[in-house]
Amino acid sequence: MATNEGSQNDSSSEIHSVDEIDYFGFLENAKASADEIVLQTVKCNNCNASTTVDVASSDSSCPYCGDKLVTGDLKPESVIKPWGLIPFRLNQQEAVKTYQKWIRKRWLAPSSFSRQPKFQSIYLPYWTFDTSANVQFIGQRGDEYYDGERNYTLWTDVIDEVQWYFDDILICASESVKEESINNLRPWGTEDIIPFEDKYLKGFISEKYGVDLKEGFQKAQERTTEGIEALLREYIGGDDQKILKARTSYTDITFKHILLPVHIISHEFRGKRYQVLINGKTGKIQGKSPKSLAKVLTTVFGTIALIALIIRLFF
Ligand SMILES: [Zn+2]
Repeated sequence: MATNEGSQNDSSSEIHSVDEIDYFGFLENAKASADEIVLQTVKCNNCNASTTVDVASSDSSCPYCGDKLVTGDLKPESVIKPWGLIPFRLNQQEAVKTYQKWIRKRWLAPSSFSRQPKFQSIYLPYWTFDTSANVQFIGQRGDEYYDGERNYTLWTDVIDEVQWYFDDILICASESVKEESINNLRPWGTEDIIPFEDKYLKGFISEKYGVDLKEGFQKAQERTTEGIEALLREYIGGDDQKILKARTSYTDITFKHILLPVHIISHEFRGKRYQVLINGKTGKIQGKSPKSLAKVLTTVFGTIALIALIIRLFF
């Protein structure tokens, strides 16, 4: 992907507009011609996630919030057929080891949190978009000079049109995981995506995309806007740049629906839900754990006692 994340300013939505071409109509048509499959899903009454249920397992709780799912409520739902997926490389036993190693380093976490946790392995829905972005802009290039006495900046107007191609903009289509958490599971290495076959879903749960194609493309646009600002600055060059107006239109939009493997550990502790996520391909782990008050106090008093002992011994 050509984006260069960061380097945006607060007023970007005012100076950066998107041409009023009906992208969403285009996406609707693309969606209508896409193959569909039928998933038997059940909607969680607590968190609203629509997931499939692993029929081979006796456990039918929601992978996100742990609530019991009513398997009698399974309903067939037509969804866009995944184009591809990255299969699980890390099995559940390896995921448990990864989790235990992670939790051992978090020694203030309550013991109940460290015990053998409940795992669910799920294929998370994603969209990937490819698109060209044509940007017309008005900006200024600043070059710094020194005239022997002082530094000054010379500004030159730059009015131009430029095109960038964005490849594999990856947008998570699950509404049940926090965007920040799921972003921390990157990189995925989309070159490892293999064509989708039903057999891969056996023994695993999958989720119906909660973010639909339109919303997905909207998110992709937001992502490219961030990248475009940085690209424009690079394009304008000089020591400093001003972007006064930029207008982007998107062409050659294509999309794919893909599934990515994640192990989820969902814990409830003192009424709060904690999610730990493991990348099912790379083993990268990410999550938060609570702190046990007893352990914090033991550490504080232990440290005070140790200092007192040192003072008695040496002073
Ligand atoms: Zn739930």
